[in-house]
Amino acid sequence: MIHQLVELGYLIAVILFIIGLKQLSSPRTARKGNLLAATGMGIAILVTLILPLESGANNYLLIALGIAIGSVIGWIAARKVKMTAMPQMVSIFNGLGGACAVAISLVELVGYQATFESGGAVFAGVHLTALMAMFVGGVAFTGSMLAYGKLEGLIDDRKVRIPQPTVVNLVLLLSILAGIGYKLAMPAEPLTWVIAIMVVSLIYGITFVIPIGGADMPVVISLLNAFTGVAAALAGLVYDNHVMLVGGILVGSSGTILTVLMCEAMNRSLLNVIIGGFGSTGKAAAQSGDQVAKEITLMDAAILLSYSNSVIIVPGYGMAVAQAQKVCHELEMLLEDKGVSVRYAIHPVAGRMPGHMNVLLAEADVSYDKLLDLDDANKALADADVVIIVGANDVVNPSAKTDPGSPIYGMPILDVLQAKHTIVLKRSMSPGYAGIQNPLFFHEKNRMLFGDAKDSLSKLVSEIKTLG
Ligand code: NDP
Repeated sequence: MIHQLVELGYLIAVILFIIGLKQLSSPRTARKGNLLAATGMGIAILVTLILPLESGANNYLLIALGIAIGSVIGWIAARKVKMTAMPQMVSIFNGLGGACAVAISLVELVGYQATFESGGAVFAGVHLTALMAMFVGGVAFTGSMLAYGKLEGLIDDRKVRIPQPTVVNLVLLLSILAGIGYKLAMPAEPLTWVIAIMVVSLIYGITFVIPIGGADMPVVISLLNAFTGVAAALAGLVYDNHVMLVGGILVGSSGTILTVLMCEAMNRSLLNVIIGGFGSTGKAAAQSGDQVAKEITLMDAAILLSYSNSVIIVPGYGMAVAQAQKVCHELEMLLEDKGVSVRYAIHPVAGRMPGHMNVLLAEADVSYDKLLDLDDANKALADADVVIIVGANDVVNPSAKTDPGSPIYGMPILDVLQAKHTIVLKRSMSPGYAGIQNPLFFHEKNRMLFGDAKDSLSKLVSEIKTLG
């Protein structure tokens, strides 16, 4: 009876996961989708808690303690995290998922070891699954922790390097696979083999992520997310737990699809991202030399915008830092009242995580119909009178099209120079995340409006209002 109840709970949870995931694909339904999937997870946890009643033995005190500590930390972290630090939080969550898979498989493998040493046997498929869960989970754990350190700025990916990373990674990968093969063939060999496989997997997670950096970080986060899903699915197989298996498959497949889409958005192959070592190849980025970037006054910017027919706003990471999304919307409404058409051009990797800009603009009540994706934006930019670039840099860098030596060469960009005028809102001439200079700033069509984006936009709004 208990078993049937648990399976029914799992079925409901899986259905909620799938509906929730589907709803996450649109900003309109994403909030509801998230809530549905979380409810599914809540049901899965609750019904799992009644499972030990079947055997009589339980660890409820320990479980309650774990849930209490985890919930408090999760609750505080989720409330405190800033939108700009969301990718770091995703990395930590990924990493902890991987660590869980390692812990689960280690417990199981220690159990199998006792069976092997007493002359018993474990089905080779189950043994292999547990070893693979440990391997993939270990890579996801340390890889995600390193990705967190890089995104948080604790580790400078331009300084922390390993010599010959491709060779090192290949040797480590083959050693792990050989170790797994040997342990499967000789199951009675001591537990030291399992520990060695675990340690090398943890090291491999670090060496795997070390060469990747700069603008390739979004891809690696999504790839590690897929690894965590695969590790959870494998752990689900080990435990014969259906909800863990399906949940893991959903995370693994959606993470893989996202990874492929992001590689396409950057025009790179996954292999190139993994072994390419962003920023470590190619010659130095274009220097500004003695070129001068021209500034624009608030008054001139206000006049230019007010007398335009079509304005396109390009949001970037700086808009998130300045929390300028609401004032962007205010500017949009003000200009629309004057008969100016205003739309937003969203680059797939603008900001610091996929969908970063969409979430921020939705939060500021910007209509979803006003958001143009890369292809549509590049068509619309040709007819735009003014493009306002709010704290974006790499995603509008023309070097991606014109300079084969640039580390971002080949990455699709928003081709803002098709428009009649561009105005860049940023605080200084500092480069963006990829650490390279942007020739757009020195182009004759462009003007700079220096300052914090929220502050500059608020002043611009006031200036336009004074024009009447
Ligand atoms: P960038 O990081 O290229 O540029 C952001 C710009 O914002 C900076 O040049 C900075 O200049 C400016 N800025 C920062 N704070 C403010 C502020 N308060 N007011 C005004 N401007 C500000 O951002 P993009 O969005 O153009 O590009 C995203 C980059 O991040 C890409 O390289 C992408 O690959 C990478 N990335 C993307 C991820 C994703 O999934 N979306 C994840 C990880 C990385 P200044 O300091 O002078 O103000």
